[in-house]
Amino acid sequence: MLSYQHAYHAGNLADLHKHALLAWVLAYLTAKPKPLSYLETHAGRGLYDLSAPEAEKTGEAAAGITRALSENWLPTDHPLRLALEAVRARHGATAYPGSPLIARHFLRPGDVAHLAELHPAEHQALAEVAGFAHLHRQDGFQMAQAICPPTPRRGLLLIDPSYEVKADYDAIPRHVAKLARKWNVGVIALWYPILADSRHAPMVEALRRNHPEALVSEVRFPPARPGHGMVGSGMVVLNAPYGLETEARRIEALF
Ligand code: SAM
Repeated sequence: MLSYQHAYHAGNLADLHKHALLAWVLAYLTAKPKPLSYLETHAGRGLYDLSAPEAEKTGEAAAGITRALSENWLPTDHPLRLALEAVRARHGATAYPGSPLIARHFLRPGDVAHLAELHPAEHQALAEVAGFAHLHRQDGFQMAQAICPPTPRRGLLLIDPSYEVKADYDAIPRHVAKLARKWNVGVIALWYPILADSRHAPMVEALRRNHPEALVSEVRFPPARPGHGMVGSGMVVLNAPYGLETEARRIEALF
């Protein structure tokens, strides 16, 4: 349990898909001068170094964000590029922001952030860079159920589990349905891996059935290593802001 470490995967093609959509939603929501809540159930450590042995070992970032930047996949004014540049200006040329630091780039005084991270070492690392947020060392779903609907009511919840617990695939549609009932105006974004053995498929079918209006964005890519199970990345977004569908189709076309 809790053996997953995002440092091996930070900046990979799945992060590129997830973080491009996340940054776009944050830029959209913070363009209006109204405060918002930002919640994350599975925050990770917040800041990664793509020259660290973990990242070098898998080479996933090299095939992901590093390649995307060198080939200009994202326009220079894309919200993810802007957040990445700000983080690199502050933390060095090989830094890569996890979702909490992407959020930090956009959040303003008056916005409220709650981040859950259960792993002790990841939580400690997160605490070093996430002074802007309320941190919770507890199960992320429990945190979200306890806080929703948050104050301010306007805002975004990112659910980004590591899917180490196989029961997650069964439980997530129930968690999402309950959160959507409690916070019916919240933007709720769930990331999931697309797996060669289709283990994710019943979960995505249940989410589509329960939330027919939700935006679903999926991209496919070659496995990071021969035999590696993940062959793509998916996001389900409830209450997707106006324009996100166009942005999602643009991102999907890059893959
Ligand atoms: N959202 C991060 C990002 O995009 O930068 C990546 C998060 S990573 C995929 C998932 C994280 O969830 C890991 O750091 C893991 O330690 C943590 N985690 C696993 N089970 C958890 C739980 N039940 N509640 C909160 N965090 C958990």
